[in-house]
Amino acid sequence: EKDILQPLTVPKDKLLGGLLPTGFDETSCLSRYESHLYSKSLQHKPSSYLISGLRRYEALHKQCGPYTELYNRTVNLIKSGEYSSDSSVCNYVVWISYSGLGNRILTLATAFLYALLTNRVLLVDPRANLHNLFCEPFPEVSWLLPPDFPIIDQFSSFNKKSPHSYGYMVRNNVTGNSRIPSFLYLHLCHDFDVQDKLFFCDTDQTILHKVPWLFVKSNNYYVPALFLIPSFEQELNNLFPEKGTVFHFLGRYLFHPTNSVWGLITRYYQAYLAQADEKIGIQIRVFSLGVSNFKYVLNQILACATKENLLPKVNLNEPVANSSGKTKTISVLMTSLSSRYFEEIRNMYWQNPTVTGEIVSVFQPSHEEHQQTEKLMHDRKALAEIYLLSLTDKLVTSGWSTFGYVAYSLGGLKPWILYKFQEGTVHNPPCFRATSLEPCYHSPPYYDCKKKTASNNTVSIAPHMRHCEDNSWGLKLF
Ligand code: GDP
Repeated sequence: EKDILQPLTVPKDKLLGGLLPTGFDETSCLSRYESHLYSKSLQHKPSSYLISGLRRYEALHKQCGPYTELYNRTVNLIKSGEYSSDSSVCNYVVWISYSGLGNRILTLATAFLYALLTNRVLLVDPRANLHNLFCEPFPEVSWLLPPDFPIIDQFSSFNKKSPHSYGYMVRNNVTGNSRIPSFLYLHLCHDFDVQDKLFFCDTDQTILHKVPWLFVKSNNYYVPALFLIPSFEQELNNLFPEKGTVFHFLGRYLFHPTNSVWGLITRYYQAYLAQADEKIGIQIRVFSLGVSNFKYVLNQILACATKENLLPKVNLNEPVANSSGKTKTISVLMTSLSSRYFEEIRNMYWQNPTVTGEIVSVFQPSHEEHQQTEKLMHDRKALAEIYLLSLTDKLVTSGWSTFGYVAYSLGGLKPWILYKFQEGTVHNPPCFRATSLEPCYHSPPYYDCKKKTASNNTVSIAPHMRHCEDNSWGLKLF
């Protein structure tokens, strides 16, 4: 019997070890308190320091969130263009939507961690579909920036050349004078310049600390670089005694699918996954390869799955498996923009019996063909699939893909990661077992704040950090 059919007989902790706050209306966001019925119980426990930090944050959010008196007062600083060193205002970090869903989920969690570390309030770009995808994470007061926010129409034009960007100001010596701006834009995308990278230095953090509004755009999981800022180190160690669980906990705390997405998830789970003895997830993400590479990608997937004993071998010599008694059932959930890999693998298990008699069913919820970020139904499906992958027992993901990073980290699963599919490269081994639940930071700053020069010495000076197995330039916590 699966516990999902009898939730009451398996008392699990619906607040996830105290990670989630109580007091939300349950029906308006079913996933928040139902997720524990589907996912495995947390293997790691959130620290009591993290739990009290979250409760403190929630109180701050309630005090400073949209349309509170303090919010209105701080918005006026933007309108008047002036900064007063008035301590009765709140400080904010505004997350600007950018890039695909996996990237957005990672950068949003990172912005939240930055807010926790700097006593800022996190507000979210309302132009993204986010409110259709995720429930409000904080009790009582919304995390969405109100659409009447004064400079909202400038968000899409913010880039590293914007006069409001911190990097631009440093380049043009604007920060030297004593006037503190009421807002700044932080460009933390993969193409950032040396001056943008100063964000990751303590002296610059001291300057930023005085600015009430920070707007951040990124397409990267820059959490590892926050661990390299000395003034954050102690706090981060207290929040996360186990370094390899940062996104796992922040993700489980922040991201609760809305009821419409939860419907997609739970119906699919009940129909295709719940009854299986074993659930295997395979996420295929192919970045810019020609169609002619289809066979080669397929071979890499199958080589990984069989080498790591994730999928049973098929018997090409017998028409029927001779098994006695109850046979083990394996459900394979595949996700990809294309349906070809799935069709091929499904047919393989239809046309041949398995060597050891298991029954393998293979399925894929959608094949969207192209990325269509910010189309509502497309994003909903993407989120549902990420979430379904996180509910499997064993997971294979694709190197370099933030879609896969989010799935395994939310699920608390150490995945097998396929080396990035690359023109003309046959990877042997085809995949590797991840060392931690953490996503990879693809474009670290590699800047030495003391010497004020570029430096790639980061890994040797930082404990619990290493280069990513799927991206040797990247950094990840473990
Ligand atoms: P990344 O590009 O793999 O790092 O992941 P992102 O999530 O940031 O961007 C890829 C986007 O393409 C996703 O957000 C989806 O919109 C779409 N996409 C890619 N793979 C899949 C898939 O397997 N299923 C679905 N439904 N969408 C996908």
